Amino acid sequence: MRQSQMLIPTLKENPADAEIKSHQLLVRAGYIRQIASGIYSFLPIGRRVLSNVENIVREEMEKIGAHEMMMPALEPSELWKETGRWTTFGSELMRINDRHNREFALGATHEEVITSLVRNEVKSYKQLPLTVFQIQNKFRDEARPRFGLLRGREFLMKDAYSFNESYESLDETYDKMFQAYTNIFNRCGLNFRAVIADSGAMGGKDTHEFMVLSEVGEDVIAYSDSSSYAANIEMAPVVATYEKSDEAPKEMEKVSTPNQKTMQEVADFLGHGLEQGLKSIMFQVDEEYVMVVTRGDHEVNDVKLKNLFDAGLVELASEEDTRRLMGTGFGSLGPVDVPEEVKVVADHAVEALVNVSSGANEEGYHYTNVTPGKDFEVSAYADLRFIEEGDPSPDGEGTIQFARGIEVGHVFKLGEFYSERMNATFLNDQGKATTMIMGSYGIGVSRTLAAIVEQYHDDRGITWPANIAPYHVHLLSLNPKKEEQKELADQLYEELKQAGIEVLYDDRKERAGVKFADSDLFGVPVRVTVGKRAGEGVVEVKERATGDQQDLEQHEVVSYVKNWYKL
Ligand code: ATP
Ligand code: MG
Repeated sequence: MRQSQMLIPTLKENPADAEIKSHQLLVRAGYIRQIASGIYSFLPIGRRVLSNVENIVREEMEKIGAHEMMMPALEPSELWKETGRWTTFGSELMRINDRHNREFALGATHEEVITSLVRNEVKSYKQLPLTVFQIQNKFRDEARPRFGLLRGREFLMKDAYSFNESYESLDETYDKMFQAYTNIFNRCGLNFRAVIADSGAMGGKDTHEFMVLSEVGEDVIAYSDSSSYAANIEMAPVVATYEKSDEAPKEMEKVSTPNQKTMQEVADFLGHGLEQGLKSIMFQVDEEYVMVVTRGDHEVNDVKLKNLFDAGLVELASEEDTRRLMGTGFGSLGPVDVPEEVKVVADHAVEALVNVSSGANEEGYHYTNVTPGKDFEVSAYADLRFIEEGDPSPDGEGTIQFARGIEVGHVFKLGEFYSERMNATFLNDQGKATTMIMGSYGIGVSRTLAAIVEQYHDDRGITWPANIAPYHVHLLSLNPKKEEQKELADQLYEELKQAGIEVLYDDRKERAGVKFADSDLFGVPVRVTVGKRAGEGVVEVKERATGDQQDLEQHEVVSYVKNWYKL
């Protein structure tokens, strides 16, 4: 393509609202433009890189026998009402009415649409297993659209859905998907981890998120330093064992702790470490009030609390409810003498403590020498805290480290959630109507593109991996006014194209400095510059990522490029 005829508006400065590199660079280099918050146009070179990611996804899906289809973006509300998600999806679902006042959702995801199609069209076990996918814009009214393509309100997603006869068959489809995802993110050149994401039961393996390791990621991954174990920190079980102190329990004492509000202030005031104090937090768990007690240096994990009670809703109790029940506010809570309507549960670490401090359920006072079992009882000890760096890895190998990640993909065993509510059944080999078993599998295609830029850039611009780059070669003619330069560049342009090489040809009447800066910004992996030595038929080739450069004769250029890309 001749750059002089293309829409590639580059900017010298970062856009004011762009906080992270992928957002800054994709805008500055003319790949994308925002039209409204979280909504972007892909300009011609942006469309090319997006298509490259898309095609990798498409190829790997087809390889495992998933077939591409396309569902509408407008989804009638009746379908969402069948599953209850018209309500539970909340304000993230964009809704519109047609001229007859019928309600529609703008597609945020397509479980309902695909299930409705399959229940009508698939009747027999002979048609299963079945996996389909589509690559299409999704709409979600995110509370905080930000970071450019990472969290948009309209974004490109690959969503796949599988229908199986049995859970065993679902496992097989899931494993194939898992492998396809691994191939996709490898081909995108990404440094990523598949992490255990959610499971109902702790430590289960029913869903995985694919996380690209990045400082700007919103998720925290707990991974083992010596095995492949990795989980979202919410999900990682704590398997640490705690040795009970052999100190003799002493008489509990009430001490005045005026104006000492935080755990740290109280610990400093009483002259002990954070781990020698009890942290007590009131939660509302469905209809119940629950006090959760952990060691002062640990953090309560509310997902684990939710799972312990198999609850629908877990949230911090209000200060008002806490005062009504306990006679005191948040800063003075403790597990000693708790009224009956409040259930007390504690993390395993608490069981091993002797002679520690806790709130006295009275403003300005704490107890010292509190020992569980002697001074208070709990209804259960359980794993209730967040895993921490340095904890033993749940798989028994190595210790836990943390990293931040960007979720680019999600594989999920849905089971019968949708098929049951929407009555999607098939006749099994005995002729008996049976509920289909489903899985769903998403990839944020546009988010993946941004994640690639997060891992592939330097201070001058993007440094695309070969598989994603918008072109193979960026051909620069430094001074097209000079006849020999223009002629050689034009010839090379034709030769490269003839050889099936994709070329972006900077034939603009711009200063050399502008061309080099733009070229670094775009990040095409191989640059061919026609300049001063054009008269001798010599050009310079330079690798964008490493900066390695050399002079080549005109006739060597095509084979150099073919070799570089293994074309
Ligand atoms: P998140 O926790 O980031 O909101 P999610 O759990 O809502 O993600 P899914 O419903 O599993 O995401 O969607 C499948 C994939 O779509 C995600 O793994 C992610 O890569 C991508 N995705 C989700 N929301 C967005 C968004 N607002 N912008 C861009 N990509 C997104
Ligand atoms: Mg979301």
